[in-house]
Amino acid sequence: MKRIVIIGGGSAGVMFVNRMRRDFTEDEVELSVIERSDKHYFQPAFTSIAFGLDEGEDVVRPTKDLFYEGVNLITDSATRINPKNNTVTTSKHGAVSYDYLIVATGAKLNFDEPAGMKEGLNKGEGVFTFYTMDGALKLRDAIKNCDGGTIVSMSSENPIKCPAAPINFILMAEDTMRMFGRRNKFKFVLSTPMQSVIPNQPYLEKFNSILDSKEIGVVNNFSPGEVDYKNGVVRSYNGKKINFDLLCIIPPHEGEQVIHDSEELGDAAGWVTCDKYHLLSNYYSNIYAIGDASDVPASKTMTSARIQAKVLTDRMKAVLEGKEPTATYKPEVLCPISPKNKKSVFAHYNYDELKPLYWNLILKGLI
Ligand SMILES: Cc1cc2nc3c(=O)[nH]c(=O)nc-3n(C[C@H](O)[C@H](O)[C@H](O)COP(=O)(O)OP(=O)(O)OC[C@H]3O[C@@H](n4cnc5c(N)ncnc54)[C@H](O)[C@@H]3O)c2cc1C
Repeated sequence: MKRIVIIGGGSAGVMFVNRMRRDFTEDEVELSVIERSDKHYFQPAFTSIAFGLDEGEDVVRPTKDLFYEGVNLITDSATRINPKNNTVTTSKHGAVSYDYLIVATGAKLNFDEPAGMKEGLNKGEGVFTFYTMDGALKLRDAIKNCDGGTIVSMSSENPIKCPAAPINFILMAEDTMRMFGRRNKFKFVLSTPMQSVIPNQPYLEKFNSILDSKEIGVVNNFSPGEVDYKNGVVRSYNGKKINFDLLCIIPPHEGEQVIHDSEELGDAAGWVTCDKYHLLSNYYSNIYAIGDASDVPASKTMTSARIQAKVLTDRMKAVLEGKEPTATYKPEVLCPISPKNKKSVFAHYNYDELKPLYWNLILKGLI
């Protein structure tokens, strides 16, 4: 019997392990998940929480309730991966041995940069983020009570989870203030560290015209170096400034500490380096990475994680059955689409439809 250990029981880890449990009996494969949190959040809903469109109860569930019977959940932190002896060191459960290891630790938010951001967020007056549950709730109250000024949506650095989220945020903010009848009291600014808000050239012009028509200002190539929350200004590394009354900032992302602390597994930012088609570690033949944790050049989204979990299940099945794995990961590109009536539409989920799908079908590996 083979032992497969998954570090991380977030979206990618749960989808993968449930698919495997469905396809293999407990006599064939032992499946263990090391997950430090007893709560699992449906992160895409953080955006809708910020606008009062979602309440807490459907957004969080106990981690232990997400797995099929026969998955061994170890509620603990993995502190080091030791590929030379095929073990994972944990905080409370000692060393956990594996034949195959799946790293699904997601992305960590770095609150130490830019300077002043953490202090601004803690102060909770003009600086907010919706990339955590707590942050989304604070932002919801700030948006409700904001009666004028400049609202700025800013991503600090790439890559981030769900690259469309800061764009969605500013469009929803503009729409909300219009609905409240307060649109004329606000200015809206979207700031990006990239050369343009979306990299996809064929759609960029159309997309910029949508922002123009809503009078949303765009600042490209803006890498924030300092959030001066007392004076309501963000300064970039190259001397530019953006003033704000309400700043919604997305902190830089990096790989988890356990990747930094394990030899020859990740790059300088802590993303697990692996083959972009096979999801196999560049260094070890029995370690794979899926979801936000990996360095594959795909968007860090639940959608990508879902396809990766499926591809990896197919590959693992082949490996366990002694066959040559053939399943290959082909990243999907997130982009605006212009299907009808000469109108441009930005890819957008209906969360009311997505949430039940997530809890009842996607996490169970059924679609
Ligand atoms: C505001 C927001 C909006 C989003 N919108 C969308 C959207 O519209 N569409 C979309 O497809 N995606 C969206 N996403 C992105 C999506 O949520 C993530 O891409 C997805 O959750 C990635 O899954 P994952 O399993 O890789 O990481 P996660 O779901 O973050 O899970 C990682 C897990 O690993 C655990 N972990 C980490 N380190 C350790 C350790 N050392 N020991 C034990 N456990 C550990 C963590 O506790 C966590 O549970 C959004 C994200 C945010 C924040």
